[in-house]
Amino acid sequence: MPTATTSSSTSSTSLRVDIVPCLNDNYGYLIVDEARGQCAIVDASETKPVLDAIARVGLPLAAILSTHHHHDHVGGNAEVLAAHPKAIVYGHSSDQGRIPGLTHPLEDGATFELGSFSVTARHVPGHTLGAVTYVVSDGDGPAWAFTGDTLFVAGCGRLFEGTPAQMHRSLCGILAELPPDTRVACGHEYTAANLKFAAHVEPQNTHVAAKIAAVAALRAKGEPTVPGTIGEEREINPFLRVDVPAVRTHVGADASTDSSEVLRLLREEKNSFK
Ligand code: FE
Ligand code: ZN
Repeated sequence: MPTATTSSSTSSTSLRVDIVPCLNDNYGYLIVDEARGQCAIVDASETKPVLDAIARVGLPLAAILSTHHHHDHVGGNAEVLAAHPKAIVYGHSSDQGRIPGLTHPLEDGATFELGSFSVTARHVPGHTLGAVTYVVSDGDGPAWAFTGDTLFVAGCGRLFEGTPAQMHRSLCGILAELPPDTRVACGHEYTAANLKFAAHVEPQNTHVAAKIAAVAALRAKGEPTVPGTIGEEREINPFLRVDVPAVRTHVGADASTDSSEVLRLLREEKNSFK
């Protein structure tokens, strides 16, 4: 089980996140709060791996944080709740009726305490209309952004429900503006395929080339490529780089083209890119 902590301090309030691989290529994330003696799961994608991860840390489950209503992210909610009936469930208010067990509907900018940690929920429509990114901080080390299928390492989710303008605002107006050291913990292991597309869009981008080598080494060892960082995403992710001249040229846009139109063209090309 991969474990990542963001603070070298031995303070027991530091944020510990255990990656929980689910289904084929999904990631749930167990937020472990040793000081308060509880844990929380971001995306109970599948029952067994989530229950096993909770059992491994041996702490009661306080909450499920659902990033969006797709089955591969909430498919374990009901059974995880049956095993941990005191847990509460967060999700966007517009996803009431779509996120099983939702008890705490959220609006953009809502903040709440999760044991020792503070959470800000950002509404990031685009992939779905109720998509939420949870930004979790221990007030000391870097924050973690749990981005679901909105922002992937080196890519973004498909536009199933939202418009290109909504996705552009979610990615470039909200997520790219988080502090550069913010960890990007996304919902799928899509990094290698995303980087292949990024290199196709920007063949001269040396950050992309370096990342391709680093990711290949991780995957060869069977290790996850998450988390990334916001600072790195700004260098490698074409969907955060819609104002970079090389990216605009690639899709046939010019300086006067609306940025969300550049995003739309990129996303459309990626949909059929092999
Ligand atoms: Fe999804
Ligand atoms: Zn998904």
